[in-house]
Amino acid sequence: MKMNLTDITTIKSLLETADTGFKKSLGQNFLINPAVPKKIAASLKRDGENPPNVLEIGPGIGTLTVELSAVAGRVAAVEIDGTLMPILEKTLAGCPNVKVINADILKTDIGKLAQEEFGGGEFSVCANLPYYITSPILMYLLEGDAKPREIIIMVQKEVAQRLCSSPGSAEYGALTAAAAWFGECERLFAVSAGNFLPKPKVDSEVIRITPFKSPPFKVSSGGTLRRVIRGAFARRRKTLVNSITAEFPNIEKERFVKILSAMGLPADIRGERLSVERFAEMTLYIDGEIPL
Ligand code: SAM
Repeated sequence: MKMNLTDITTIKSLLETADTGFKKSLGQNFLINPAVPKKIAASLKRDGENPPNVLEIGPGIGTLTVELSAVAGRVAAVEIDGTLMPILEKTLAGCPNVKVINADILKTDIGKLAQEEFGGGEFSVCANLPYYITSPILMYLLEGDAKPREIIIMVQKEVAQRLCSSPGSAEYGALTAAAAWFGECERLFAVSAGNFLPKPKVDSEVIRITPFKSPPFKVSSGGTLRRVIRGAFARRRKTLVNSITAEFPNIEKERFVKILSAMGLPADIRGERLSVERFAEMTLYIDGEIPL
């Protein structure tokens, strides 16, 4: 018989039978409204006639996984919590296109996984992300070599605002700039705290990040861009010049002042005012591709 994985009694009994419980330290807030995982899975774009292959991060007890299985080609679900494995074996018994991998996503070679599970073909990422490591996971996906065709994730509402914010706004930060370099960010729909067990203190939103097919602006190297972004936001209250020199100890402060002047920017500008396009331009000066 098909289990209702969003039913509170069913969730509690599955955890109890496996002698485990909700682990707050792993961000375990499970969905209890059946409409939400359905809607997330329905947001995945098809690849022409082909159903998409999906990498799910943190399947929990398999609530979203079951819905993904229904619309996807293959699903690889990476779950860090070993105590959930016997539960997933039960709840995903009717989903032959799903493979569960007991691992930490931050220690998983996603390119290798995509090769093994999806034959090197395109894949999408879909997840109800654990709040405590949303940014590290997102950075890991954005900076990794394996580029998903889209990333559909549930994140804390404030993170959704941050990701889709514009330069100069209070929400704009390193994560925004990194995501803006990677692709286009869209807010899909809101999910209030009452849709989870245990109920978190914050509301959530589902967002989509669609990677650009080719880099939108010229950079000297992705590595320099990452350092520029990191440096620009590391010390938010300082000017860009003071903040960024700590990230590039071999470059003199005067050189950064000259770079800003060449870019037509004031010497006391703060990093939060610059778009990713301007950060990209800055890499060309730093690495000497545009002479000063
Ligand atoms: N997908 C389920 C749902 O929507 O109900 C559970 C989502 S819950 C918010 C996040 C899940 O991510 C948990 O199952 C947690 O154990 C798992 N998780 C936490 N850290 C992880 C990591 N580093 N790698 C893989 N999974 C992780």
